[in-house]
Amino acid sequence: MTAGAGAQSTEGNAQFEALRAADLKLATIGWRLATANAPLCERLEPGTGIQLHTLDQFDSATRAQAQTHFGFASPIAVEAIVSGSPAERAGLRADDSLIRVGSVDMRAIAGKAGTTERLVAAQLAIAALPTEASIAVEALRGGEAIRVTIEPVPACKSRFELEIINSFGASADGTMVQISSRFLDDYSDDQVAAVTAHEFAHNVLHHRDRLVARGVDYGLLSGFGANVKYFRQTEIQADLLSAYLLANAGYPPRASIDFWRKYGSDGLIGLFRSRSHPHWRDRIATLEAEIPKIEAQAARPIVPALIAERSQPLSGDWQSLLVRR
Ligand SMILES: [Zn+2]
Repeated sequence: MTAGAGAQSTEGNAQFEALRAADLKLATIGWRLATANAPLCERLEPGTGIQLHTLDQFDSATRAQAQTHFGFASPIAVEAIVSGSPAERAGLRADDSLIRVGSVDMRAIAGKAGTTERLVAAQLAIAALPTEASIAVEALRGGEAIRVTIEPVPACKSRFELEIINSFGASADGTMVQISSRFLDDYSDDQVAAVTAHEFAHNVLHHRDRLVARGVDYGLLSGFGANVKYFRQTEIQADLLSAYLLANAGYPPRASIDFWRKYGSDGLIGLFRSRSHPHWRDRIATLEAEIPKIEAQAARPIVPALIAERSQPLSGDWQSLLVRR
């Protein structure tokens, strides 16, 4: 190996570790939100605290180095373990290569190379295991076969995905929350938790299904006409619920205000559809009015009344929810 290639390799390894740290940061936020708020969720999965990665999600140019760096001995491995999680208690570690997780044969999971198909398939297979039954795990560590048993805890059924991109983006599709890595660079952990909680709230409240049931079309026209009132209602509901989700998970609910203040004053109005979304100063005023109700209660989790409405059609009434600045 030439000196140049060696230097490149060292830089590559630092990037792998930076990626691992970023994935773990979002996984930890997702873990806290999904487990602490399990009583608020209809759909549950066994919470383990394992952050997976797959060799084939790396592009062909970096795959060989990823294999060496992370020591993949099978196609799917543990990228990181959330601190304090059942997987940590069971003794599973980062860079353990997974053979079997419960009834799921990890070597049988397929996906297109250069994509996250195999990763997502593995996440969904584990999420489909019984919520509260012990999970026997077979893995390889340094060439040796190991077995551990994870005692999972109930977690809301949701994936949390970090999108590696140098721009701001956050979305929820009903089962998954995606946050762009730029937020992790520029926002505090509590503020990242706040934007994650907002997107997660859309899923907890089944907003996508309820918008579709109202005939709302996603895409270019979503910010126009009769759709606006439904989008506004879902946005304000997600803001309100986000403060409860944060509080239940041990985050300061005021992180939601901090997030909107920074986001709004950074001028990032392209991030969320401006026509369908209320003004950020009104969103802050709405949260300012709600958060004292949360802070006045000591018991956790709090299950706000919004949760009981989630199986009902959207009314389109956003005016009564929004507090004007
Ligand atoms: Zn939203």
